[in-house]
Amino acid sequence: MVFKSTAEVVIIGGGVMGTSTAYYLAKCGVKDVVLLEKRYLASGPTGKSAAHIRPYHGVEETIKIIQRTIQVYLNFSEMVGGDAEFRNTGRIWAEPESKRKLLEDAVALSRRGGIKAEYLSTKDLEEMMPGVATEGLAVAVLFPEAGYSNPGLVTASFAARAREMGVEIYEETEVTGIDVSGGRVRSVTSSRGAVSAPIVLNAAGIWSPQIGQMVGIDIPIKPTRGQGVVFRLPWELPSFTPIFHDGRSQYIFRCEPGNLVNLINTLEKVDAEILDPDTMPEDASEETLANALERGPETFPALKMASYRGGYSCAYDVTPDDSPIMEESEDVSGFFNMVGWSGLGMTQAPAAGELMAELITTGKTTLVDVSIYSSRRFKENRPLASAWLFGEIGFN
Ligand SMILES: Cc1cc2nc3c(=O)[nH]c(=O)nc-3n(C[C@H](O)[C@H](O)[C@H](O)COP(=O)(O)OP(=O)(O)OC[C@H]3O[C@@H](n4cnc5c(N)ncnc54)[C@H](O)[C@@H]3O)c2cc1C
Repeated sequence: MVFKSTAEVVIIGGGVMGTSTAYYLAKCGVKDVVLLEKRYLASGPTGKSAAHIRPYHGVEETIKIIQRTIQVYLNFSEMVGGDAEFRNTGRIWAEPESKRKLLEDAVALSRRGGIKAEYLSTKDLEEMMPGVATEGLAVAVLFPEAGYSNPGLVTASFAARAREMGVEIYEETEVTGIDVSGGRVRSVTSSRGAVSAPIVLNAAGIWSPQIGQMVGIDIPIKPTRGQGVVFRLPWELPSFTPIFHDGRSQYIFRCEPGNLVNLINTLEKVDAEILDPDTMPEDASEETLANALERGPETFPALKMASYRGGYSCAYDVTPDDSPIMEESEDVSGFFNMVGWSGLGMTQAPAAGELMAELITTGKTTLVDVSIYSSRRFKENRPLASAWLFGEIGFN
């Protein structure tokens, strides 16, 4: 394969963010794009993701991004082409009385952003969630458009459409340096050769601080462990369809074909260890498994009879306020960041790619004003006001 030595845009990272931006750039006419991925597409956290759409958030602009993303997943074959394997299961979030206001405020914010949400009676909840213990839950909401996708397939579909339009994607190609002169990016050096380009996009997720260092900027991201465990229920026991977020334990339950139950603790990463992205463990820790064995059956008693099928672990790229960074660097012209998804990248990826393509090509954005996601907010100590929600309900 001949390696291209010039491009209009170089994208670093072949996760869902890099590939979605490549697709939207090509779609809006910028086809001279090179994407460099050091391993293979979706080899990082994207490929390990639970890929739930979480339809609530503490930042109004982020809700609009999520709403747009939901529309793309629901209509993926028409809007992008290919398959996202999006399972539109709906998602139920239930909380005890003490957290009623938190949930109601979040629902109001989601609805303002165009996301559908329906309050459920206890009877509705019991009917929709057979086998789930509902004692102590005072308020429950169904988000009917939510669900989960296949993150590898989403990434592969974006990449395939981008390639069809002319984007060159090189896997097993590691970026090792970026040349900056006169305050501008000039070229990218990689294990396969150099590419000169006036625009470079850092979509390297948990590795993005290393890419930032190549142009002399600090990117405030901590690679922080996220974990899940999987059980198989005996065949004769009932399971349920919607993803279930139980506010009592902050566990998320997802029943899958084959009677599998996928369990993620949304708060786990708050106190979790910071990882080296290149040596992070791929399995869930013993502590995570022990917690899931203890707390999972409190919500879903059938789990006492389930067998453990394995655990998984990878890292979230967490910023100080759990919101992403989308920007052109103020210090280096032509250097863009789309990083720091803090556990919600799959929930935002298609719309985020669309926004970044628009920012790169026009300097502004329509769906939301992405300047609120500039990293300047950390230098000025003005974090986005999402902590009230994340501190209480965690991530995913
Ligand atoms: C266990 C787990 C569960 C999750 N569950 C959910 C969920 O339910 N819902 C949700 O919305 N989100 C979830 N997420 C988060 C979501 O998966 C991420 O936010 C998203 O995948 C980030 O995508 P990305 O493209 O930014 O990064 P990545 O997937 O990390 O992609 C970055 C790519 O850059 C490449 N790269 C790095 N350095 C270089 C270099 N020097 N040269 C070339 N390439 C390089 C890497 O190899 C990697 O492939 C979860 C994440 C984890 C870990």
